[in-house]
Amino acid sequence: MERGNRIPGQGKGLGRGGGQGRNKGGAFGPGGYCVCAKCGKKVPHEQGVKCTMLKCPDCGHTMIREELLKK
Ligand SMILES: [Zn+2]
Repeated sequence: MERGNRIPGQGKGLGRGGGQGRNKGGAFGPGGYCVCAKCGKKVPHEQGVKCTMLKCPDCGHTMIREELLKK
């Protein structure tokens, strides 16, 4: 349950919940990967940026969420 990424010395804000960890704009939550639908290139998903808004760095094709490929 420890997040362990707090910056020490900023003792305020305890109990307000970091705002990370539960769906924040993305249907699949933070983390994961975007995969090129064409060549299979995989890049880390950036929070707040939809995979479908990305273009594959290799071939320029639209990226999609990894979870959607595995179906
Ligand atoms: Zn590609």
